[in-house]
Amino acid sequence: MVSRVIPVAPFDLVVFGGTGDLARRKILPALFRRFLSGQMGDTSRVIGAARSEMDAGAYRGFVRAAIEEFDAAAARDRAQLDAFLERVGYVAVDAKGSAGWGELAAALTEGRVRAFYFSVGPSLFGDLAQRLHDYGLADEDSRIVVEKPFGRDLDSARALNRGLARHFDEHQIYRIDHYLGKETVQNLMAVRFGNMLFEPLWNSQYVDHIQITVAESVGVGGRGEYYDRAGAMRDMMQNHLMQLLCLIAMEPPAKFDPDAVRDEKLKVIRALDPVEPGNVVRGQYEAEGDKPDYRAQVGNPDSATESFVALKAHISNWRWAGTPFYLRTGKRLKARASEIAVVFKETPHSIFGEEAGRHRNILTIKLQPNEGIELGVTIKEPGPGGMRLVDVPLDMTFAEALGPDSAEFPDAYERLIMDVIRGNQTLFMRGDEVEAAWAWTDPIIAAWEERGEPPQSYATGSTGPEDALMLMHRDGRRWREIKP
Ligand code: NAD
Repeated sequence: MVSRVIPVAPFDLVVFGGTGDLARRKILPALFRRFLSGQMGDTSRVIGAARSEMDAGAYRGFVRAAIEEFDAAAARDRAQLDAFLERVGYVAVDAKGSAGWGELAAALTEGRVRAFYFSVGPSLFGDLAQRLHDYGLADEDSRIVVEKPFGRDLDSARALNRGLARHFDEHQIYRIDHYLGKETVQNLMAVRFGNMLFEPLWNSQYVDHIQITVAESVGVGGRGEYYDRAGAMRDMMQNHLMQLLCLIAMEPPAKFDPDAVRDEKLKVIRALDPVEPGNVVRGQYEAEGDKPDYRAQVGNPDSATESFVALKAHISNWRWAGTPFYLRTGKRLKARASEIAVVFKETPHSIFGEEAGRHRNILTIKLQPNEGIELGVTIKEPGPGGMRLVDVPLDMTFAEALGPDSAEFPDAYERLIMDVIRGNQTLFMRGDEVEAAWAWTDPIIAAWEERGEPPQSYATGSTGPEDALMLMHRDGRRWREIKP
């Protein structure tokens, strides 16, 4: 099967923060790959816009180096890389002043889609929206893409929403959560709503519990200053894990369209019970060998910020009452591994006798490092010797059945940027969703700030603090192994 690429209409994409880390590692390589696939068309343009004074030639050198570093395989096609770079321009602008804005406005083409990617800190979102308006760039064909973090609590998220809403309509604002751009996350919706098989069982009568794990093996790296002000709850739980929770738990939307999907996600967030303090565990990683501990790494010897958080959540609605959702995320854990596991209840009775045991199905949606969906089913162990049962994984990504191309899907940023150009907001967070997510996480954070308890320490390369294991053990359940 050959994958189909539908070219998008010609566009101008301005990357504010075009010299930053995210642009280098993700945005620019993603754009080049879409160019290679033929989706970007011949006349679309990418314009870097940042504070540094440089000309377009120097910026092209920067973009070339970024693509060579972060997608060496794609960069081997020199002719295509040169062709892509011809479509790249640069304007030095100051988000907080007037420098460069006239030049930027003049560089854009009239009458085509204009996307402005705010790959800068959130403190500049309001300024950028204001300048785009002042220079006549906030018209009907414009859209803006904003990066996380979208605030650090409900009040700041509201303020950001208000700042953007002054000049842009909600349908022009694309709040990125790159987890939603993953192929498997969309496949999850196809599996849930494209089959008769799962939806009737997708409720507390048949699902024992759901676990969501986003585990990283690396520490905070060079992002220490930002991270120490955020922590795992704000950096990961409030956005990525909650978004995954929403997609797993939401009611079937009437249509796969942006507002239908986002309305259902919002209902899930609003149905979440407040989390009791005893159902949250926070942790901070210890040193190992030449790897410093968390506090040394962020340069804050008294830091009480968590690099790990695990919690048990309940959704109070007809479908999920009685099914707990266990969520955990952290750094310096055993492996880089992210997955959602829907753990069904055991069969009520074994007709094969005691020794065959009682079995359960587990649907696993793997997000990292490899994407895929697996259904654990119970079958007879082949061979003579009676009815011995064994659990085997049924691979539901079917790369073989769909051909080799099916395993090579675009990276999340590629898909999401093209969705922005196409004007499809389904995989982006709406303002009210983000606010509702903060409204749920704020009291959790406030409760531990009030108690002033430091996070528990955990060994680098472990599965997090002991108490996180207890969170499930005391319910007679176990976390799944963290393995790549
Ligand atoms: P960075 O510090 O590497 O780059 C910041 C960019 O903003 C630079 O290009 C700089 O020139 C530009 N800039 C700063 N002040 C400016 C001003 N007054 N006018 C115009 N341009 C200005 O930051 P980054 O790591 O690329 O992150 C950008 C955004 O993306 C942040 O909101 C960050 O939280 C978010 N983000 C980053 C990552 C990542 O891995 N780097 C991941 C997720 C989200």
